[in-house]
Amino acid sequence: MTASRARLQFDVVIVGAGAIGTAFACALRNSGLQIALVDAREPKAFTAAAEVDLRVFALSPASRCILESLGAWQIIQAQRLAAYTEMHVWDSSGSGCIHFDCADVGEPALGYIVENRLIQHALLVQLHSAHNITAIHPATPESVVIDAQQVTLSLHDGRRLQARLLVAADGADSATRKLVGIDSLSVSYGQTAIVAHVVTQKPHDHTAWQRFLPTGPIALLPLQDGRSSVVWSLDDARAEEVQRLDDAGFCAAVTTASDAILGQVTASTPRAGFPLQRMHASEYVQARCALIGDAAHALHPLAGQGVNMGFKDMAALSAIILDAQQRHRDVGDLGVLRCYQRARKGENLAMITALDGIKRLFSNDIAPLTWMRNAGLCAVDRFTPLKSVFMRRAMGLRSNLTEPMR
Ligand SMILES: Cc1cc2nc3c(=O)[nH]c(=O)nc-3n(C[C@H](O)[C@H](O)[C@H](O)COP(=O)(O)OP(=O)(O)OC[C@H]3O[C@@H](n4cnc5c(N)ncnc54)[C@H](O)[C@@H]3O)c2cc1C
Repeated sequence: MTASRARLQFDVVIVGAGAIGTAFACALRNSGLQIALVDAREPKAFTAAAEVDLRVFALSPASRCILESLGAWQIIQAQRLAAYTEMHVWDSSGSGCIHFDCADVGEPALGYIVENRLIQHALLVQLHSAHNITAIHPATPESVVIDAQQVTLSLHDGRRLQARLLVAADGADSATRKLVGIDSLSVSYGQTAIVAHVVTQKPHDHTAWQRFLPTGPIALLPLQDGRSSVVWSLDDARAEEVQRLDDAGFCAAVTTASDAILGQVTASTPRAGFPLQRMHASEYVQARCALIGDAAHALHPLAGQGVNMGFKDMAALSAIILDAQQRHRDVGDLGVLRCYQRARKGENLAMITALDGIKRLFSNDIAPLTWMRNAGLCAVDRFTPLKSVFMRRAMGLRSNLTEPMR
């Protein structure tokens, strides 16, 4: 699995070796299909002694199931993760709150906080023994030519990769999506998410805490070492001010914004900021091309759904491709790829729209709206059947898309 053994002729070329592109390659390992996995960067090494990656994800039980089927979950579990069994969400402008408990849906956890770097490491370990995967990095796509028989991807270093199918998994600003000419609708939220890991006075109790403020939500997610990971979405101007604070000022600001739910914040790692946007591709497929993960959709991180949606995309596409291969069908055929679009686009659009609505609902202080959302939160909290529906949807348990991976 090295670039030096790179072949020029493949069945599938994947651009983007983030969590989703690597998981997709993993699902096709030992399939008999020849796969190229291209990325602009070398993968970052994971060591147990290294500081916890600033990029952590709240993974749903559905994502856990997919990673288990790929053999990666076992590696993640042996390193470090934090299961959260409860979730507490409340509104800064009123008394509305909602509390979720995994016991209410008979699951051992609502989700798991896992580092991006560890997910990629676990998947790469699985790829090392695969004979049909060629990793090509650092490399970026320059142009794409699609004809009836194949797609040709030219890289900036002059290499040309030919395949029956090109899969874009190169994130929300996907160069591959643009090169193949698939449009997308993208709107900036005018917000930046600041992330850092913090030490708090009180234990996190294996609970994910989220407080909605008119300027954006702040979440405190439990880490295995007892610290919490802060994901604080703020209007851009305020985010800049917060980024400029010294450590003591930042800890004080997080304490105030989180209403000191875990007591004082006493220490923090350096911070990173991520500009937030909503983006949806007009099509997930065209002849010989498919988009998965953030290359197809990006959304506000307030419900921690982006990578979970991406895992379902790659599970659906890999199942459809493996099925096509078994039936001796062309894996780049538009008819085959449309099955994937039908399976995923509607569900993803519904999630993007719902989260957009929630973001707007909580972004202002107009009195009737504040009253309405507080009343709504309390009502859902008391009405157990509806609460269970929300929980199961967020946990990815409602859909049967993970079935092919089970
Ligand atoms: C603050 C924040 C918190 C979040 N928290 C959660 C959460 O709790 N749960 C959740 O489900 N989601 C969360 N998300 C969303 C999540 O980060 C994304 O959905 C996820 O990272 C998408 O993975 P991906 O592999 O599709 O893309 P990426 O992670 O963006 O990976 C893209 C890969 O493509 C490569 N690449 C990019 N451009 C090129 C190019 N031109 N050529 C070659 N390679 C290229 C990159 O190097 C990278 O390896 C969060 C997002 C943010 C911003």
